[in-house]
Amino acid sequence: MKFRCRWWQWFVILTAASSSLMVFAQARPFPGPDVQQIYQRLLPQVEKIPIFDHHAHPGFPDDPDVDAMAAPPGSAALRERDSNLELVAAAKALFGYPYNDFSPEHAKWLVQKKAELKKSQGNAYFSNILDKLNIERSVANRAMMAGYLDPKRFPWVFFADAFMWPFDNQQQRSRNPDEQVYIPLQEKMLHRWMQQAQLNRPPADFAGYLSFISSTLEENQRRGGIAMKFEVAYFRSTKFSNPPRQQAEQIYQHYVNGGVPAADDYRIFQDYIFRYLISEGGRLHLPVHIHSAVGIGDYFNISEANIMNLENILRDPRYSAVTFVMIHGGYPLEREAIWLAAVKNVYMDSSLMEIAMYPSEFKNSLKQWLETFPDKITFGTDAFPYNDVLGAEESYWLGVQSARQGLAAALAEMVSMGEVSESKALEMAHGYLHDNAIRIYEGKVQ
Ligand SMILES: [Zn+2]
Repeated sequence: MKFRCRWWQWFVILTAASSSLMVFAQARPFPGPDVQQIYQRLLPQVEKIPIFDHHAHPGFPDDPDVDAMAAPPGSAALRERDSNLELVAAAKALFGYPYNDFSPEHAKWLVQKKAELKKSQGNAYFSNILDKLNIERSVANRAMMAGYLDPKRFPWVFFADAFMWPFDNQQQRSRNPDEQVYIPLQEKMLHRWMQQAQLNRPPADFAGYLSFISSTLEENQRRGGIAMKFEVAYFRSTKFSNPPRQQAEQIYQHYVNGGVPAADDYRIFQDYIFRYLISEGGRLHLPVHIHSAVGIGDYFNISEANIMNLENILRDPRYSAVTFVMIHGGYPLEREAIWLAAVKNVYMDSSLMEIAMYPSEFKNSLKQWLETFPDKITFGTDAFPYNDVLGAEESYWLGVQSARQGLAAALAEMVSMGEVSESKALEMAHGYLHDNAIRIYEGKVQ
């Protein structure tokens, strides 16, 4: 049968063709005038997404276990100073703080308010903070877990660096004033792992030391640990060579009972232990978190900690069963770092980035990530108690607000420039704030 279109049928066909052409048109280089409207539409939807915070240090300011190390004196970047008035907005939102500054007189109000809430709410205090911010769960990257944190809401990520420091560390301590703060705390951490294993001293032979490491990882996993974390960039270069076991064993036997190791010997030993730890992360299905960014303290060595130093590890097929999470996303090298997420078992975490940068700039970094490997990026706050007045609470607030705004803005631009549809944008938002991280811990967290 011959089919002839009537004029209105042609109209329907042409309209459909032109709208499908729009879908397949090339993306534009500038957002259109609709970008603000799209942002206003996306932001409330982004706010409704329950968050999985992939990296934080929850705890009260007087709790020494919020980290395995302590902050040395040093210059904080502009937005990370406790003089940041955005933190006033945080205190108002979370506690109804009635003042517009943190003068010592006014700050007393906040300290007292938190003390009252802590007393009346008990162990629910920090869970209630998460509820206020629509955070479903927050990783507690802590030396040890605290009884006042609900483990269902705060899955534990423990520290694994201390196993790399079993010898006399006087040479390392003398490197700079920051190491004088850090290294005794690593020694303390190792001592706590030994106590947990009922050891008074490191095992006499190397095989015993390796089995002590493995059993500690297993025990921490039994105690609820979902991942191990390295902050090794604070102590030494993150370039790891590949020494044979025999060499590491000889060094261990030489120094386990005393003597200050030569710097090269210590480094080689640590290179072996680091690789052993991450291999165990593969065997135990225990993801490996690595601090991969600039750090606190004026002696932090950025070039030694360059995330690209880890490329030989991340792209090594022997570690393909290990899930790596690059904490802080290599910042300020996040543009390069995202390409490491091409490796199927490597993920990025944006904690610290959304605090160190204002949303105007964070938006650009996040957009580049969303445009590259959107299914491999995860959100974190790096919430941490600033001081006795400003705690992890305000820090959570600032991280969450900044990330939601930066995310909605990045996605609004991408929609306006014809890169993604609005529904795809929301799917990416769910991935970044929640789903991508949850996939990593399948079966271990809800
Ligand atoms: Zn941290």
